[in-house]
Amino acid sequence: MRGKWWVPLLLLVVIAAGWAIGRYTAPSPSAGGSAATEQQELNGGTSTAAPGSEVSPAPSPSGAPGGNEVRQADTEPDSIGVIVNKQYGLEEGYKPEDLVYPNVPFIFKEKIEKRMLRKEAAAALEEMFAGAEKDGVYLAGVSGYRSEATQTVLFDNYVKRDGEEKARTYSAVPGHSEHQTGLAIDLSGRDGKCAAESCFAGTKEADWLAQHAPEYGFIIRYPEGKEAITGYMYEAWHVRYVGKELARTLTEKGLTLEEYYNAVPVSK
Ligand SMILES: [Zn+2]
Repeated sequence: MRGKWWVPLLLLVVIAAGWAIGRYTAPSPSAGGSAATEQQELNGGTSTAAPGSEVSPAPSPSGAPGGNEVRQADTEPDSIGVIVNKQYGLEEGYKPEDLVYPNVPFIFKEKIEKRMLRKEAAAALEEMFAGAEKDGVYLAGVSGYRSEATQTVLFDNYVKRDGEEKARTYSAVPGHSEHQTGLAIDLSGRDGKCAAESCFAGTKEADWLAQHAPEYGFIIRYPEGKEAITGYMYEAWHVRYVGKELARTLTEKGLTLEEYYNAVPVSK
């Protein structure tokens, strides 16, 4: 007998080999082994990736409504998808450079500022009016583009009449009106009844707009039930041109521009 002096040595080799295999073999994503745990801790507990692989960015903790992707709010004033609301204002004195008079009836005759829209929106508006007529619905423009100066006069008058707090609930602070983008317009029926008033909701014209405006690239910007998100009461008459693609996306997902851009809800 030479003795069993090599037994502890063999055991040591086996243990060392076992440890090495366990340490350097990539764990499966579900493995609860020490290597995986350590990797998760290094990555802030978010990654199940194998050691050495790229760590993907952690998902936004807040997520987004309706499984919406996280995207930056479009605040470029000339962009068709720009967001303008109580939170996001336009740069001081912004005026679009491609304002035109759309060839559609308005409830007034004068060729004045509020008859204008940006070129692309004006062309889409003409198409929409023609589409409505085919369905026996006769729309009219009430108020399109509004300069910052005009909005300032309007807002100041509302403040004098009702006080600033109340005025802010129904009128935009200068620089924060969507009408200043030249992409928004208030509409009514051709008789001008209920022009920019709550009684427009439920009319034949309002129903047609709610159903068909997105086909022409317009959205009902302040929908019913989203008041706490848009910061405005339901306005069945205020449509905003965002282009056909975005209008379709927003309509399919039932999103406001605020939700689409994950812009924080506006309260007042
Ligand atoms: Zn409006």
